[in-house]
Amino acid sequence: MDTKQFRKHGHEMVDWIADFMDNIEKYPVHPDIQPGEIKSKLPKDAPIKGEEMKAIFNDFQNVIMPGITHWQHPYWFAYFPANNSPPSILGEFLTAALGAQCMIWKTSPAAEELEEVTMEWLKKMIGLPEGMVGVIQDSASISTLVALITAREKASKFQINNKGFTEPLTVYCSEEAHSSVVKGAKIAGYGKDNIRLIPADDNFAMDPVTLEKAILEDKNRALKPACVCATLGTTSSTGVDPLNKIGAICKAHNVWLHVDAAYAGTAAILPEKRWIMNGIEHADSFVFNPHKWMLTNLDCSAYFVKDPKTLKKTFEIHPEYLKTGVDSVVNNYRDWGIHLGRRFRALKLWFVLRSYGVEGLQNMVREHIRLAQMLKQWIEDDQRFELMAPVHFSLVCFRLNPKNKSEKQLNDLNKQLLKSINQTGKTFLTHTILKGKYVIRFCIAQRTTKEEHVRRTWELITKKAEKLLKQQKPHREL
Ligand SMILES: *Cc1c(COP(=O)(O)O)cnc(C)c1O
Repeated sequence: MDTKQFRKHGHEMVDWIADFMDNIEKYPVHPDIQPGEIKSKLPKDAPIKGEEMKAIFNDFQNVIMPGITHWQHPYWFAYFPANNSPPSILGEFLTAALGAQCMIWKTSPAAEELEEVTMEWLKKMIGLPEGMVGVIQDSASISTLVALITAREKASKFQINNKGFTEPLTVYCSEEAHSSVVKGAKIAGYGKDNIRLIPADDNFAMDPVTLEKAILEDKNRALKPACVCATLGTTSSTGVDPLNKIGAICKAHNVWLHVDAAYAGTAAILPEKRWIMNGIEHADSFVFNPHKWMLTNLDCSAYFVKDPKTLKKTFEIHPEYLKTGVDSVVNNYRDWGIHLGRRFRALKLWFVLRSYGVEGLQNMVREHIRLAQMLKQWIEDDQRFELMAPVHFSLVCFRLNPKNKSEKQLNDLNKQLLKSINQTGKTFLTHTILKGKYVIRFCIAQRTTKEEHVRRTWELITKKAEKLLKQQKPHREL
């Protein structure tokens, strides 16, 4: 494709994207298709001869689009969000156009320096301690893995990098922690048997007394505690672990404290939510995802550490072919994590931060939190429903509870309710299990979501619930 054709198709596609954004509500949030349906419409082999963009783009519209789940839909209330935004998309265009591989300063000085600057901005925006420094990773999962490996090296005085494990090290997180902690601990070589899942309290926060007991028990058995992963905003219910208490325990036992705030970290840009960061001065590492609630499209995960020397000592490599004359005075981010090849992710983040400003982002987050409080009130006012967790941010966990059912019946009933809601294709919600109870999660954090979308979805939920309850009632009761 020459630049003349590129220009033509580029303009067409920008128009298509703008129309898509304008008309997003016309699409079902979740496609109604069966596994294998898309594959069956695609050839088994790559084309031998190049094809026209017109044909490729036609297939994109007719084959691919019908199989897309629309995360940017205003009726998106599933999981946590993965927001993009117009400035973020434009930044991503340019990142693709530059095609720079940003492994070291030399391979794109502006990319490295913009990453430093945007991470400093974020650090101040969410109130992280002055001394921490940031680097962009691709995901919270990888950031947590990086933390676990660094903690491992610190605890073993960098001997595991040399000799492999010679003694078991232990890891602690709450039972409500994200699956990436256990996955990361397995990958980092700790072993599943050396991961302690600490019970969560009634608010789904880690119980620090049990944490300290577990650390002491392991020490008594001559095991070496290496890392505690605390969560601000757990995935199931946005529980907030008490950082102050956990931090003091980590300090007393010389254990690495990693803080996972993948979704909720963004809320710390609001003064009224800054309390979640109380005790953050104890953290050795911290992660949150601008690619969740900060309008920067996947992938962009902001990882901060107190001591970059320990991080670099864990991951540094010195192949001759990558040596430069400025290595001692610049950040070579290849040494700040797992990947060598790195995308220029800071650009889209910079576009977002400048385009919205801190105030613009605060307004959005505050509005989502207001809508969640509104929904919470509707649930509390409706006798048929039950709120299942504190609403700290913009996730509301609830269930239908007609008060005459066993826990098992309630679980089945809510499973049916969720299915009937999602089958409409009008909205998309997901579930979790809290203390053995099946719970519907309603997360309000999509950029385009307004009050009317939440209101109409609640109407849909109550309508479906009414219908279910009618079907459920034994005839003799009528
Ligand atoms: C979403 C989430 C993650 C995983 O984030 P990725 O960037 O997809 O790896 C980790 N921790 C928590 C608490 C999350 O909510």
